[in-house]
Amino acid sequence: CKKEMQMLSDLPAETRDGYRVQLLANIDHPGEVASALAQGAEGIGLFRTEHLFLGRDTMPGEDEQFEFYVQVVQRMRGRPVVIRTLDYAGPSSPFFQPMHYEPNPFLGCRGIRLNLNFEEIFNTQIKAILRASAFGRVKVMFPLISRVEDLRRVKSMMRQAQEELLRAGKNFDPDIEVGLLVEVPSAALTAELFAPEVDFYSIGTNDLVQYTLAVDRASAGINPLNQVLHPAILRLVKNVIDVARNARKKVAMCGEMAGEPLATLLLLGLGLNQFSAAAGALPEIKKVIRAVTLKEAREVALRTLQLSGPEEVRRYLEQEMKSRR
Ligand code: PEP
Ligand code: MG
Repeated sequence: CKKEMQMLSDLPAETRDGYRVQLLANIDHPGEVASALAQGAEGIGLFRTEHLFLGRDTMPGEDEQFEFYVQVVQRMRGRPVVIRTLDYAGPSSPFFQPMHYEPNPFLGCRGIRLNLNFEEIFNTQIKAILRASAFGRVKVMFPLISRVEDLRRVKSMMRQAQEELLRAGKNFDPDIEVGLLVEVPSAALTAELFAPEVDFYSIGTNDLVQYTLAVDRASAGINPLNQVLHPAILRLVKNVIDVARNARKKVAMCGEMAGEPLATLLLLGLGLNQFSAAAGALPEIKKVIRAVTLKEAREVALRTLQLSGPEEVRRYLEQEMKSRR
């Protein structure tokens, strides 16, 4: 079985008719890189940075952050690494004092709003990320963007950080790619407005589901699979993929839907370029991709979009998978 996995990890994520997609891993820590590579990850599609900030009283400085990020970049040896800026939700950390109490933290000051409101913290983080970009292929991605203005502002803060690094004589990749994490319905609905500002899109279905369907992502008892297969989510995902492809930008998915084999045919058929998931999910996703043609996947996607509810979508996709075994 180990041998089979090793063989599979060396094979490309390609359909039977030669359509190639990329499989990337989501990680929280440099220690996860080895297993991501062993499972065949061709890059890191989401490096969450919260891990370094959690459970401590003082903020990690620029050098400490740089060390954390560059470990991943070096271990990936030139493969792409998408680093997401800090995305706190829920109770505030000591660094964000004084932050007033928020009755609905998921609707409050998280993601990009933190980045914009706490300039010093953002400036330190973005400089550390930029410095790591001198050691490999780093891309930066911003969370919880709901309007283009926020992205423009954060990009101008990034330019300022680049100037500071230049003045300090520190190296970075001046052409670092910038991505939009599409996880708020307003961004998914207006995806084309972001095209001039971004190099790539990445769809975050975990939050997209919570904000589109009014379900708390942390709630037990709500079937997560049923939520991502909701026709509203499928339409938003389709819109982002169509917009990205028309604008000739790459489009990835880093939400958990990308690691769900039942959704693989559908996402492939919709035209997704990159699947980013927990490393352990990648071999199974690759198996599904290698067993079909792009034409078949497109037909599945077309049929799926005509269905009226998540249960119906799930049953249809299960049937498709069964008929291919
Ligand atoms: C998402 O929301 O889908 C996502 C990828 O980010 P996180 O799960 O870290 O919020
Ligand atoms: Mg999210």
